Parts: sequence; C-alpha cells; structure tokens
Amino acid sequence: MNMSELFGCMVFNDSVMQERLPKATYKELKTCIAEDRSLPLHVANVVANAMKDWAIEKGCTHFTHWFQPMTGVTAEKHDSFINPTPDGKVIMEFSGKELIKGEPDASSFPSGGLRATFEARGYTAWDPTSYAFIKDGILCIPTAFCSYGGDALDKKTPLLRSMEAVNRQAMRIIRLFGKTDVHKVLTTVGSEQEYFLIDREMFDKRKDLLLTGRTVFGARSPKGQELEDHYFGAIKPRVVAYMKELDEELWKLGILAKTKHNEVAPAQHELAPIYTTTNIATDQNQLTMEVMKKVAAKHGMVCLLHEKPFAGVNGSGKHNNWSISTDLGENLLEPGDTPYENAQFLLFLCAVIKGVDEYQDLLRISVASAGNDHRLGANEAPPAIVSMFLGEELTGILEAIEGGRTYSRRAKCEVEIGVHVLPKFPKDSTDRNRTSPFAFTGNKFEFRMLGSTFSIAGSNIVLNTIAAEELRRFADELEAAPDFLPAITEIVKRTVREHKRIIFNGNNYSDEWVKEAKRRGLSNFRTAADAIPHFADAHNVELFVRHGVFTESEVKTRTEILLEGYCKTLHIEAMTMIDIARQQILPAVLKYGKELAGAALKMRELSAEIDTSVEIGLIKKLTDFGKEAAGALQLLERETEKAAAKMSAEAYRDKVIPAMERLRKAVDELELYTASEYWPLPSYCDLLYSVR
Ligand code: ADP
Ligand code: MG
Repeated sequence: MNMSELFGCMVFNDSVMQERLPKATYKELKTCIAEDRSLPLHVANVVANAMKDWAIEKGCTHFTHWFQPMTGVTAEKHDSFINPTPDGKVIMEFSGKELIKGEPDASSFPSGGLRATFEARGYTAWDPTSYAFIKDGILCIPTAFCSYGGDALDKKTPLLRSMEAVNRQAMRIIRLFGKTDVHKVLTTVGSEQEYFLIDREMFDKRKDLLLTGRTVFGARSPKGQELEDHYFGAIKPRVVAYMKELDEELWKLGILAKTKHNEVAPAQHELAPIYTTTNIATDQNQLTMEVMKKVAAKHGMVCLLHEKPFAGVNGSGKHNNWSISTDLGENLLEPGDTPYENAQFLLFLCAVIKGVDEYQDLLRISVASAGNDHRLGANEAPPAIVSMFLGEELTGILEAIEGGRTYSRRAKCEVEIGVHVLPKFPKDSTDRNRTSPFAFTGNKFEFRMLGSTFSIAGSNIVLNTIAAEELRRFADELEAAPDFLPAITEIVKRTVREHKRIIFNGNNYSDEWVKEAKRRGLSNFRTAADAIPHFADAHNVELFVRHGVFTESEVKTRTEILLEGYCKTLHIEAMTMIDIARQQILPAVLKYGKELAGAALKMRELSAEIDTSVEIGLIKKLTDFGKEAAGALQLLERETEKAAAKMSAEAYRDKVIPAMERLRKAVDELELYTASEYWPLPSYCDLLYSVR
C-alpha cells in the first residue's frame, strides 16, 4: 500500500484543486473561503466541471448534496450527471448551480414546525470549507440545509454560524494582544469514537438490536468486564482485519484515523482521529460512523454505535477534544513560554471556565437523549452534573492569582499576570481524571459526556457559542480599560472568585460529589426529559440570538424536535419489548413449562415414589416470573398507549420507563430458568464473545 497515494484519494482537496483548477479560479475560490463569501457563479461553474471530470475518472456517475438533518444521521439524494442530447445520446454534465445549491424534497425531515409540509422544499447549499468526496461511487458535496425562509434545518448551519461567532469575538482579543498577522481564529476538534462489534449471525436473531440498536432484554453474562482484561488487550484477528480496512477506508476519505484499541467492555473498541477544524471534524465523524458500519458488514459483523447496547456492561461514548487556535496554528489554550502568552492563555481559559459555569445546562442538553440517559450518572461515564477538571496545579495557580498570593507547590513560582511564566502542566497522562465530564488536558478540553451515536455538532455549537459570549464580554471590558495587563488580572481574579464552583478535581462518581454539587448550586438534570426543555430558557435564547447562531424560533423548534426524538425512541423500545415478550419470550417459556410438566406427569405415572421436586420447582419459577412478565407487559402496553396519545416526555420518563424496567426484570429472570435451547434470543454471552 502506498500511503501517499491512498490518503485522501477520494477527496477533492486542496492539492487536487490546485492541480485541476485554472490558477485564477483556484485563487478566487480560496479567497471566498477565507473571507466567508459566497462563490460567484462563473467560479462555481469551473469548479463544478473540474469536480465532475475528477469524479468520473474515479468511476462516479452520480452526485449528491450530502447534509446533516436533525435526525442525527446524514442524508443524501443521488442525481446522475447525465443530460440528454438531441441525437438521443447523453453527456455528463455538472453545473455550478448544481454544485452550489440543491433542492431536495425534504418534507419528511424533522423541522419542528419550521417548515409546513405544503412548503416542503428546503435547499442545500455547498459548504466550501469542507471538501467534496467520493463515497460508494457517488460524488458527495457537503452542504448546509435550510428552509426557503432561511431557517436552519440541519446541524451544519448553526455550527458554521457558531464558528463565525468565536472568530468574531476571539479576534477582538487577539488584536488587543497586538497580533496583526493573525486573520482568523477557529476551534479544533478531535473526537474519540467508541463502538461494539458483534457477529452478524447473532445480530440477525435479535429484533431489538435491529429495531432499537440495543438489547432490551438479556440476563448478565457470567463473565462481564469484571477483570478489565479487555481494555487495551490484544486485539482478536477478525477485529484486526476489520480495523485495518476501516483505517484504509477512512484514509481514502482524508480522515486522519490515528489510534485504535480495545475498550473496557468485551467486544468494545475505540478509534481516534487526529484533530482538525471543528466543521470538518464534524463531517468526518459522521462519515466515520457510517464507514464503521459498512466495513463491519463486509466482515460478517455489525458495528453497534448505541450508547448502551448491553445492560450491566459499559456503554459507548464519544470524547470531544476541543481547543481554539489561530490560522497560524497557535493553540490559544496552550500555556506559553512568555509572560504575555500566559496572560493570553489565562484569559481564554477563564472564558471557558465562565462559559461552562454559566451555561452548564446547555452542555448537558447537548448530550441529552434517551440512549445517553443509560450512561450519564451510571458510574461508568461522567455524571449528569457538569463540572470541570483543571488538575491540582492549574487550580492552585488560579487560586493563588485570585488571592493575590504566591503560588508554590511543585514548581516554586509567583504568578503575576504578564510578568511570570507559568509552569508546564502535566498533559492528561497518568494522573488523568477519567470521571470528569469536562477535563483540561494540557492544551485542550475534553468533553466526555457525548453518547457514541451523537453528532458532535450539538456540543460544539454550544462550546463555540459560550466561548464567543465570554470573549465578547472580556473584549468589551479590555477595550475600555486604560491598562491592559491589570485589567486581565482583574478578569482572572473575578472569574475564579465567581465561577470556581464549577471546578472539581475529585471523583465525580462519588455520592459525596452529588451532595457537594447541590451545595454549590450546580444543576443536575438526571434525564434528557428534565434537561431538554431548558434549551429554550430565556438566557439561552438570548445567547444564541445575540451571536446569530439560532433564531428564537430555531431554538424553540429544536427543543420540540429533541423532545419528540426522546418520546419516539422510547416508544419504539417499548413496542419492541412488547413484541418480543409476547411473540417470542412467553411462547418459549410456556413451551418449556409444558415440557417440564409433561415430564413430571410421566415420572409420576411411572411411580409415585419418584421425586419430581426439581421439575415442580422450576415450573413454579417459570409460572411466577411468567405471571409477573405478563402483568408487566399489560402495564407497559397501557402506559405506552397513554404516553403516545399525549406525546409526553414526562409520561415516557415516569410511566413507560419503569414499566419497561419491570418487564425486563421478569424476562431476564425467566432467561435464567429456561433451558437455553428453548430461549429464543442469543444470550449476552453469545453476543459479547461472538467475535473471535
Ligand atoms: P489521549 O486522550 O489518549 O491522551 P491525546 O490527548 O493526544 O490522546 O488526543 C486525544 C484527541 O485529542 C485526539 O483526537 C487528538 O487529535 C485530539 N487533540 C489533540 N490536540 C488537540 C487540539 N489542539 N484541539 C483539538 N483536539 C486535539
Ligand atoms: Mg482522550
């Protein structure tokens, strides 16, 4: 394999553009991108034509506007390049207009009422900051998706808006530091992706995995993750082959897949790319998830991306590593080598601290879903309470600045902003705190609450916007201040004093923390149903509107869509349980019970002396739990019907989930008492150890 030929070979990237576009066109395109301007049609025409020629050489016949509606997955509609000619033949064409703008009939995508069905059309617009690429023989144009009124109907539009917002505000700070050669500030993201691999044959026997992505029933496997022997363990040959092909497919798409290893749970793995600009990282994470599933199918396996496919076994998350940097590549969250750089670092750090504290709820909402509720707060993933880990050293320094004291611990140093150099902090290494939802890891923040199926757009929209807001306030203050450095000192002191409640370096899984967090007044939204409605709280709407990220109606409709998604997910899960319990579980249990009863009777006939207590004991267990299951089933049916009629998230949370839990408990008991040859579903052991 020739890596230099392989990497990015399916991407219409900068080097392809340089090679294939006339110099003037290339220059105009680059300027438009750098200045966030839309592309003139004459330029688009030339670009489109070059793209088409390149794609056809690679075997493409179709193109698609690839977009990210609010369903959480990506969408595409394929159009071929063909155009009829008068002589009955066809030529392959692709115009600038087709490149820049598409009009999918999008009436079935969630819009939360933003787009009435009679005006079903939305339009997609090329986002030239993300390269076109080829997937399955289709030329894919990354696009934003809007209604005709201009309302965002997707995840990319607000993400791009939030990046503009950070850029606008951070540049004000950068100018105050006199950096005239910087033209743009952007945020960067590297997202670590966890997933499970299971055997296709096992998957096919489980309707719940097919319909909901998780097992709604299943007694514990005798061996779970107790030994933690899977974490970083030797990778099985079938998985090695899978990972190799996955890497190659991702590299072809220009995705910098870098690290891969086994995770804590059996059958669980992780992939991490090298970070890149947030917008591109978001597109690439969506693609990564898609390619993961596709490659698994080729290897006779299924890739599960659900947050919690198996009860009692760790779920899958996604770590969103986020930082801010200049177009010259300076990481603004990296403590520098000079006092001036450190003043800048502390200022950006404080913007994040203040933002996370003031908008805890938004971060929580950005990771809220029915699936992720199984993880957050379940002592395996960060709790539902948002707090920040800064490490002892950095926390010590901030507290010293706040108190105007000398900081001394490991490195003896005084910290007077703009005068002293900060010590180098240990990067997230041995002393890393894995329980923190939001950890500073030396030169970036790692937001760990995301569920594995999530688009990272939501969390990054929030991170970018809250950073923009705090930088805006700091810039207002600093621009008006007579003395720059003392003003920064004042800001740092004040931020630490007012927002240190959000900093917590201890064990986030402990019960004491829950109590302590309550004392500190931190919010604790246990479930998605609790969290989501707060998206539309006044101070959140104000934030988004101020920075042009969402309009008020966009916030309201997104709140609706999120709540609707929560209800629908639980509805499908409940219906799946009812179906499996009634059509597979109960018949199997009855059959086994009948078999046992028949055997006992026969034994009795043979001789009254024969002891049938084992059979009778088992039958009793089966009838007891069977009765409980049948009762729970009825209850679940009733509650689901009621919740659906009201489309009420509270009803799903308070009534349907407990009924689901009751049914599951009874069924999982039945599994333990039923002979495996009668049990209709592959067991946890079958599923978790199926790939060898
Ligand atoms: P680990 O978490 O295993 O210690 P790293 O901290 O090196 O590994 O990286 C984890 C992820 O963070 C990777 O995807 C990496 O590319 C990403 N990352 C590193 N630096 C930055 C940055 N400045 N901005 C965003 N992501 C980053
Ligand atoms: Mg990490």
